[in-house]
Amino acid sequence: MTSRILQNYVSGGWYTAPSGLSPVVSALDGTEVAQIGSGGLDFGAMAAYARTTGGPALRALTFHERAKILRGLADAIIARKEELYTLSAHTGATRTDSWIDIEGGAATLFTYASKGRRELPNARILVDGPVEGLSKRGSFVGQHVYTSLQGVAVHINAFNFPVWGMLEKLGPTLLAGVPAIVKPASASAYVTEQCVRIMLETGLLPKGALQLITGSTGDLLDHLTGQDVVSFTGSAATAQKLQNHPVIARESVRFVAERDSLNATLLGPDATPETPEFDLFVKEIVREMTVKAGQKCTAIRRAFVPSELIDAVQEALCARLAKVVVGDPAQEGVTMGALISTAQLRDVRETIAQLAEDARIVFGDPNTPPPGTNANGAFISPVLLRCDAPWTAKNVHEREAFGAVSTLMPYTDLNDAIALCQRGAGSLVMSLFTHDPEVAVTVVEGAASFHGRVLINDRDCAKESTGHGSPLPALVHGGPGRAGGGEEMGGIRGVKHYMQRTALQGSPGTLSAITNRWMNGAPVVEAGVHPFRRTFAELALGESFTSGQRVITLDDIEHFAHFTGDTFYAHMDEAAAAANPFFPGRVAHGYLILSFAAGLFVDPAPGPVLANYGLENLRFIKPVSPGDAIKVRLTAKAKNQRNAEYGEVTWDALVTNQDGDTVATYDLLTMNAL
Ligand code: NAP
Repeated sequence: MTSRILQNYVSGGWYTAPSGLSPVVSALDGTEVAQIGSGGLDFGAMAAYARTTGGPALRALTFHERAKILRGLADAIIARKEELYTLSAHTGATRTDSWIDIEGGAATLFTYASKGRRELPNARILVDGPVEGLSKRGSFVGQHVYTSLQGVAVHINAFNFPVWGMLEKLGPTLLAGVPAIVKPASASAYVTEQCVRIMLETGLLPKGALQLITGSTGDLLDHLTGQDVVSFTGSAATAQKLQNHPVIARESVRFVAERDSLNATLLGPDATPETPEFDLFVKEIVREMTVKAGQKCTAIRRAFVPSELIDAVQEALCARLAKVVVGDPAQEGVTMGALISTAQLRDVRETIAQLAEDARIVFGDPNTPPPGTNANGAFISPVLLRCDAPWTAKNVHEREAFGAVSTLMPYTDLNDAIALCQRGAGSLVMSLFTHDPEVAVTVVEGAASFHGRVLINDRDCAKESTGHGSPLPALVHGGPGRAGGGEEMGGIRGVKHYMQRTALQGSPGTLSAITNRWMNGAPVVEAGVHPFRRTFAELALGESFTSGQRVITLDDIEHFAHFTGDTFYAHMDEAAAAANPFFPGRVAHGYLILSFAAGLFVDPAPGPVLANYGLENLRFIKPVSPGDAIKVRLTAKAKNQRNAEYGEVTWDALVTNQDGDTVATYDLLTMNAL
């Protein structure tokens, strides 16, 4: 690969640093693949450009419009993925490693695009939780909302996943309406730079939504404010340094840290060598040691096994590790690639030497390059250590060798195992291999609070399990304590990290106007026609229909009971019903009330209402006895356009009795033609 100077994307244009460039070398043979530098950049101007150009443009779009951009970016990455695979090979990655990075990154964008469409409104404000009543007569209420931060997100990424590492942050950020400045780790920035080009060349991103720094971030942090976010992935040492930056502390700049992590795996006491869980455990450790040559923040660093099984586990692990072929992934049969650089190789060797103060190496030789590998590359054999005294050991619980390295340790009983897991002092993930639910409960209660994610693997889910080491866009990624205390992704939770939650207080009418959701107490609009005759576009929030009354008789209840088969005693047996603490005697079925309510509010002729789509938040508040009369009020509460043909309407449904008491409340969902 011919070396080239990586560029920065700044204030709408590509910029090459005139001097002060540093070489970036191939993990495979040490030859220069790029030069990198950001000398001469005006970092303050970059932050300002993001705030004044990117932010307003993104905030003018709705969540759905931003989601559409994400989909377009992901499509472009997939269409041009081979360009990225070619570059990624120089990071020492196998095809599978690169697949996790490149296609896994695009998949994360796809997930955010789809969640943005399905789970967020076609709006710019996000409502959080229910309306909170704050007054007796209901004229003063509260509502939490999220709005986009008006700053810039600075993403500082680790070297190991140059594409995924960028996209898992960029998806939630852009969906939140916040522009980003991305700073990839120098060692693999040539892959990130190309991915940024691919995204920019789609023309989908508003100006200022995305900028790139290849090289140092200079004085960027000096220019941050309380509307900005720093999202950092990397070592604990760098995180600490950045987090202690005076501006970050003074301005309360949000700082999300994903740091190194001494992730554990646990073999349950039930998982003896004849069980499928034993084999799954061994397989998973080897997979975690070798994928990406172990350079994964989520990789298994500490493996705890019942003390009587440690020899059997060691033997099985060594047999499997012996089959690993280390080398240039371009060569046939290679199953594990290289570390990112010879500097990283040195670092891993030094850390193994520290681990060896507590443990002994039982597989692999860290100091001899694996046979057939290029001496200028960053190749290392997988290294398994065994520590028989985990309680007196220190380094194995504190030092992360960011490579194909793991340590096997015994535990005496489950409480001992849990306490040993906790010695990681906070990790991204732990896994447990057991088929005994009681073991799972004990471990989750004892160790989950020390982890961002817990995988419980067994014979029932193993085939479809995504594995110990895979962060997923729908689930949170991050962990307490040593892991940084940060949280990313987790579906829409990740979007909220780039938004501000504000408690609004005011009248229902005003808050309805702000949130674009009708709420009880807000003005009701009389359109003069039944709201079911109104198209999605015509229907105004607050349009309402109140039905006439219907008396519910004992015959109705009996008919409904025999027709549906629901002859539960509360509807059929006067004495038994009266003995129940909730009922005065025989009462109408809840579903009868719903069915009669539908009969009362429906406008039957064909029209813009296409389908009943379901109901939410259903509560039966007061029983209905034979002779009671019910009526229903239906009010248009929220609208969410789904596509060019139809949209979802949420209706507030309120069923009351002859005394005006509330019998049932729910949100009815319909699909309405535009
Ligand atoms: P690192 O040396 O801490 O670097 C991380 C990022 O910080 C890089 O982009 C680096 O840029 C940048 N950086 C370093 N010093 C900086 C400074 N003074 N100001 C601004 N930026 C600075 O970590 P790494 O070696 O790339 O990554 C390996 C570590 O990351 C491991 O410990 C691993 O566990 C951790 N990691 C954690 C996660 C997670 O999600 N928790 C994921 C992946 C990796 P340069 O490359 O240009 O120095």
